[in-house]
Amino acid sequence: MRVPAGYRTRWASLRLLWGSSRGLALGAMVMLVADAALPSLTLVSMGRAAGHIPGAVADGVSSAAGHALWWALALAAGCFTLSMLRGPVEDVLSAAARARLTAVLQERLVRAVSAPPGIAHLEDPAVLDRLSFAQGEVMGQQPADAPMTLLQTAGGRLGGLVACGVLSGYHWWLGLTLLAAWLVVRRPLGALVRSRVGTFRAAGEPLRRSWYFLGVAWRPQFAKEVRVFGLGEWVLDSYQRWYTEAMRPSWRTVGRLNLRVAGAGLLVLAAYGLGAGTLSWDAYHHTVGLRTLATMLPMLLATMPVGSVTATDFALESMLSALPDLDGLEAALAPPALPAPADPADPEALAPAAVAPADAAGLPRAAIRLEGVGFRYPGGQQDVLHGLDLELPAGTSLAVVGVNGAGKTTLVTLLARLREPTAGRITVDGHDLADLDPAAWQRQLAVVFQDFTRYPLTAAENVSLALRHDPPDPGALSRAAERAGAAELVEGLANGWQTVLSPHYTGGTDLSGGQWQRLALARALYAVERGARVLVLDEPTAQLDVRAEAAFYDRFLQITEGTTSIVISHRFSTVRKADRIAVLDAGRITELGGHDELLATGGQYAELFRTQAARFTGPASTRRGRQ
Ligand code: ADP
Repeated sequence: MRVPAGYRTRWASLRLLWGSSRGLALGAMVMLVADAALPSLTLVSMGRAAGHIPGAVADGVSSAAGHALWWALALAAGCFTLSMLRGPVEDVLSAAARARLTAVLQERLVRAVSAPPGIAHLEDPAVLDRLSFAQGEVMGQQPADAPMTLLQTAGGRLGGLVACGVLSGYHWWLGLTLLAAWLVVRRPLGALVRSRVGTFRAAGEPLRRSWYFLGVAWRPQFAKEVRVFGLGEWVLDSYQRWYTEAMRPSWRTVGRLNLRVAGAGLLVLAAYGLGAGTLSWDAYHHTVGLRTLATMLPMLLATMPVGSVTATDFALESMLSALPDLDGLEAALAPPALPAPADPADPEALAPAAVAPADAAGLPRAAIRLEGVGFRYPGGQQDVLHGLDLELPAGTSLAVVGVNGAGKTTLVTLLARLREPTAGRITVDGHDLADLDPAAWQRQLAVVFQDFTRYPLTAAENVSLALRHDPPDPGALSRAAERAGAAELVEGLANGWQTVLSPHYTGGTDLSGGQWQRLALARALYAVERGARVLVLDEPTAQLDVRAEAAFYDRFLQITEGTTSIVISHRFSTVRKADRIAVLDAGRITELGGHDELLATGGQYAELFRTQAARFTGPASTRRGRQ
């Protein structure tokens, strides 16, 4: 039998709680029983106490009737006290469950998005939408709260059911009528809650955009431009525009919801009118006593949770809706499983097609080759790289030059297996890069990306980054800093290597762009110290001052020593010392050779080089000179 998705998700959320803490799950079950039983028990015992009042008044409190009243009051007070304790106990249990489940779910989320070796999935709007759903961002509800909220809601529903049962003890049809009325209205109201959740989910992208603008308003990295360009109002307007666009369908649903709630309300009101009218009639005609009246009148209200739809139902549906997103992300981003063994009895015997990823340790020893490599970004209109052939012998350096948008950075991401070529292949010592274990290959690389990360950590951590889980090696740190031209800079910091490089933390400081760039270079060179064999520098001197750039040029051989290196730069002073220079134009290598060789050829490299050199050697043209 097919179980509806809603029930499967509910069951999955309960399993999650059970899996993370049996104690909490059992505690929550006890509370469910308390939620189901205590409200009716309290009302019944209070009604019983009320029923003894006339006798106690007539015979005195020390009479048998008076004693019965005392006992009934004591029981009612006990039930009432337990009822009052439910809330605080549930709060404590919910907080403990939230803490545990948040940790469990966040770990699963981080593992899921970190599973692919590449980064393409992090640029996929569908994945990003799912990611924000799975985090509960879109609905503003924590998926970690789902199991406890579910159990509390279920406890309330059971409590309502028990109250219907008690009412049926008075008139069998009354409890049934109220239950039937709630069951009739519950379905459409529940469907509306789910459809409202659906409209939120459909608004994932506009909501992400609106949050982006909200972030622009308060995040420090945007603060300068927001003020200098006077963007405050525009940011606010954009936020409101995207938010309104995202929420409009949901508001429309609320409108429909209100209409149906009003319709459903009339039916339920009629059922309660019937209940209250019957009680009044019976009381008026003395066919019920005080005890029944005092019990059944509030019991009418106690039936409400059996079917009422409140904000908690919407919150619960939102929390639950995040769980399949997490499952979906895990399934979609998991690495492909190795093929099943050919002989199920012998798990060692892999199917003929099963090729375990080759070990990348120590590669490349001979050469990295690009053979007819093509690449097009997902959804792109044209190839960024096409038919690209290039050989990079191990232990040599290659500089890649080309105009903006030529595809240089894209090439680096392909080499680092952050993206996969859409045509051709890259080989390392003859192994197809696609057959190498991606994580092991990435450990052979040390890359300074153009947009390298500035971690709000100490200088030592920024360079060593707990690489391979090893503690920072002071010797390797100083050698890397020395080679990167960052030694003096670190010495000048208030706490040397232990200085936190972020002004957002007490005692922290910030570095200039060029200083950060040197530290990023030191990070890559530290990785080389720790065994990386391919050094990739994407615009390593873009933010350096003239002296630092000259020093980089002087140290180029020392920096790239013992590695296979690729340097991308617009600055010809940076690239000319490389063993070979490749010109990348419109996705292809159009020139390849040494600096002198390419200058002599008089091609694009020579033209670009001379254009840049002329800026420094030719006559200066100033605005005043032109007048
Ligand atoms: P270069 O480093 O030579 O300046 P890039 O490799 O960064 O050039 O970019 C090459 C082309 O790919 C550009 O036209 C750019 O617009 C496009 N591009 C770069 N990154 C992406 C991306 N993440 N998604 C889609 N297109 C991209």
